[in-house]
Amino acid sequence: ARGLFAGLAAHAIAPTSGFATSAIALVFALAAHENGWPVPRGGSQAISDALASYLREQGGTIRTGSEVKRLDELPPARAYIFDTSPSALARIAGLGSAYSHYRYGASAFKIDYALSGPVPWTAEAARRAGTVHLGPDARTIDTALRAAVDGRDPSVPFLITAQPSLTDPSRAPEGRHVFWVYGHVPAGWEGDATDVIERQLERFAPGFRDLVLARAVSGPPELAARNANYVGGDIACGAFSGLQTLLRPKLARVPYATAHPAVFLCSSATPPGPGVHGMSGHHAAKAVWRRLRAA
Ligand SMILES: Cc1cc2nc3c(=O)[nH]c(=O)nc-3n(C[C@H](O)[C@H](O)[C@H](O)COP(=O)(O)OP(=O)(O)OC[C@H]3O[C@@H](n4cnc5c(N)ncnc54)[C@H](O)[C@@H]3O)c2cc1C
Repeated sequence: ARGLFAGLAAHAIAPTSGFATSAIALVFALAAHENGWPVPRGGSQAISDALASYLREQGGTIRTGSEVKRLDELPPARAYIFDTSPSALARIAGLGSAYSHYRYGASAFKIDYALSGPVPWTAEAARRAGTVHLGPDARTIDTALRAAVDGRDPSVPFLITAQPSLTDPSRAPEGRHVFWVYGHVPAGWEGDATDVIERQLERFAPGFRDLVLARAVSGPPELAARNANYVGGDIACGAFSGLQTLLRPKLARVPYATAHPAVFLCSSATPPGPGVHGMSGHHAAKAVWRRLRAA
């Protein structure tokens, strides 16, 4: 039970004894007991596609493929809502040092696999699970998180793994599987964690390596290059440390508002943070609505 709870808490990339990490673990546990952790049919892209089609239905238009560097590149509007890091927003909207105290956290090392068969977990129950955590115990999990946060190389990483093709057969040809795994590494880390990760997988699923048809590896530099919000490869867009765990991006009555009356922030650098998709945007939209109605 301790190992299970520590694994849930470790989704916040912070030592498991950190501020409010037990609350985060409880949210994950409640969601798991309510419905299980859902896996979108067709992949996470299906969620973006559904949201995009709803926006279009409401008359919205979407432009992709261009990085916004300055506010004045955008057409005139009553409100601009940025899904960016606070540091990027300060540069884009000329907010000076408004977020200079905002801290970014440790990163992840992620591997995506194509497998010739299901992961051969020794534990029978794990073979039916969409998500499997490899700690295996609370102490090892805490040590792994602490190393990443303190800037040390991973030795026995805590791994979060998922095998979506178990519940969504559309993800892979019949009999084959897709599987991803990530462990935690220091911010900006440029090493290769493939071997330490696969050693840990082999420990709990002997024969895993023999099933690998292909792998795609992303460390902090690749994650950061793919998404500007992942500063130093921090997939949470901000460290879970001290009050910043809850009060993001800084202590403010309306954390989504900025010093510019028309500019708002809606990314996971705002409450309630990452891992609760859409809620930051939902609250930011309400803040914008209140501002526009008051104007
Ligand atoms: C490997 C991995 C596994 C995860 N697993 C889970 C999970 O199982 N469950 C869960 O709930 N969460 C999970 N998360 C976390 C979740 O993906 C994030 O918390 C969530 O996507 C954050 O949403 P966001 O809107 O803040 O930013 P993002 O989804 O990162 O979107 C920001 C977008 O803005 C774009 N952008 C940034 N700057 C600019 C700019 N200047 N101009 C134009 N575009 C810009 C970026 O390219 C990006 O497309 C996972 C994350 C990773 C990386």
